[in-house]
Amino acid sequence: MATDPVLVVHGGAWAIPDNMTEAHRQGVGNALAAGWRVLEGGGSALDAVEEAVVIMEDDETFDAGRGSFLNREGKVQLDALIMDGATLRAGGVGCVERIANPVRAARKILSESPHVYFVAEGAERFAAEHGIPLCRNEDLVIPREVQRLREYQAQPADAAKSDNDLFAPTISHDTVGAVALDCEGNLAAATSTGGTLAKAPGRLGDSSLIGCGCYADNASAAASTTGWGEPIMKLVLAKWAADRVASGSIPDWIAAEAINYLKDRLNGHGGIILLDTNGRFGIAHNTPRMAWAAKTVKQESAGIEWSR
Ligand code: ASP
Repeated sequence: MATDPVLVVHGGAWAIPDNMTEAHRQGVGNALAAGWRVLEGGGSALDAVEEAVVIMEDDETFDAGRGSFLNREGKVQLDALIMDGATLRAGGVGCVERIANPVRAARKILSESPHVYFVAEGAERFAAEHGIPLCRNEDLVIPREVQRLREYQAQPADAAKSDNDLFAPTISHDTVGAVALDCEGNLAAATSTGGTLAKAPGRLGDSSLIGCGCYADNASAAASTTGWGEPIMKLVLAKWAADRVASGSIPDWIAAEAINYLKDRLNGHGGIILLDTNGRFGIAHNTPRMAWAAKTVKQESAGIEWSR
């Protein structure tokens, strides 16, 4: 029996300022439309999350692809993961500097490699050998981010370097992600990020780590997270949430529980989207705002804040 498809996307959890809310709404809306086109045409959840994430990687509003935060040396370094809930196949890239759409490279790894993870130059070489064009790092850098890094680095050392300031919920966490259920009843998830502002070169966040920033298993749920990556990865938060859905809890409740756990256990902050094979989904964040959009055959909704 065919399943009704569902798609949920996010564009990062933080204190999105008023003058940026429209761009975020539009960005997640465009991503939702692209992913939904795949699902309504009978395409796979995997293709849907890839297409949705590509749209947000291409949108400079978000901390993914071109327009991402710069690391402390002024370079863009990107991480992404995509995972197929039917087979548990996954593809991830970390610390790539010359790929505008890292989720495309991640998908190639999932589909065409026996491995799960490639990093840095090895990931770029794999991508190029599989038909993904490489760009210059400068092509991914935009003036807004050069300015942001400059201002951040101009702060007095104690202000700029405090973890609490750097990872405060007001600091941008514009990582993007998507979870989908297709008409075959399969789940998939994808997450893509430029990571955190002024990160050390080579620092890998949660987004591309299986079970941390992204997870999908038809036996449990599909999840994508955003926020301060270090606490999220210590808690393996996406898998934590998926496991609880497998035990029978509803995604709406578990999404909220996951964010409470993040806060209570490690004083972390961020957001999560979570979807099960029944098409039930949950969204939660403990930051002032989180850009999200969701679509089922009956309803489409979007916002920059979620309330249960
Ligand atoms: N989780 C990402 C990271 O720590 C940042 C984000 O969600 O924006 O790399």
